[in-house]
Amino acid sequence: MSMIGARILAWYKSNGRLMLPWRVVRNPYATLVSEFMLQQTQVDRVTPKFDAFMKAYPDIFALARAGRGDIIRQWVGLGYNSRAVRLHAVAQRITSDFAGRIPEDEATLRSLPGIGPYTARAIMAFGYNHTVCATDTNIARIIHRLFFGLEIPPKVKWATVDARAQELVPSGKAHDFNGALMDFGSTICTARKPACKGCPLAGDCIAAPIDHGLLQEARKDIAGKNKPRIPFEQSARFARGRIVDRLRALPAGSSISLLDLQADIEPVLHPVLRGDILGIVEALQDDGLIRVDDRKTVALV
Ligand code: SF4
Repeated sequence: MSMIGARILAWYKSNGRLMLPWRVVRNPYATLVSEFMLQQTQVDRVTPKFDAFMKAYPDIFALARAGRGDIIRQWVGLGYNSRAVRLHAVAQRITSDFAGRIPEDEATLRSLPGIGPYTARAIMAFGYNHTVCATDTNIARIIHRLFFGLEIPPKVKWATVDARAQELVPSGKAHDFNGALMDFGSTICTARKPACKGCPLAGDCIAAPIDHGLLQEARKDIAGKNKPRIPFEQSARFARGRIVDRLRALPAGSSISLLDLQADIEPVLHPVLRGDILGIVEALQDDGLIRVDDRKTVALV
């Protein structure tokens, strides 16, 4: 094992979030569910939802059998509801095509809906302890700093950083190593204020010690080159969330007329979105989250 591997594992043992429920359980189904939840939601918000979800759907067969509307209701508080739809679709594919066994190779995992390279490797590492690194932007930042220097602007391509990350994974320790890098990236080697002083990897790190002022300047330069963002309240994602929330509040199995839905939703939307409600409803229907019947009533699927 490399010195960096040994040091990061030692750090993890005393400082890591070893008790996160999906790390304690250690099975591929728990990993699949948690990774879908964590794709765009913070750990603190996911933790209680994960426990409730696992109680409602304790295995992949229970999830595959469940109604999609019930799953979307269970998803409340996590946002990005289309993840619930994709997770349900994955569970159905795994039960129908793989007899309920979650695949353990990257190519097969990536053929499933909503599973990209990161999620596939996370399932391999956390679910099966295969020797891979689930490189995401946080892990890439650490690896870049360690081996290539400050990541802004990037000195090497993502593929080079990822290849170096794969080389570092200690055989038989992928579960802990990936957890360690994730926790290290969110507490020590953070994007804005890395704690280089006292960092257990400082002696191995090309970027160390990072000057916070210079880092801020570099980040500002990059931000200045990017286009200004649309405020969240003016985004289609905001409107999608409000529509799904309204439908989720209906008693199970009931629907609402499209006109009533429009009347309920319009007041909470920014004026720029009000003319686009029908288009957003259509997009939600195309994504499999809601259905609109011939009588123009709307419900969760
Ligand atoms: S020394 Fe600083 S930049 Fe290097 S790994 Fe540690 S926290 Fe990150």
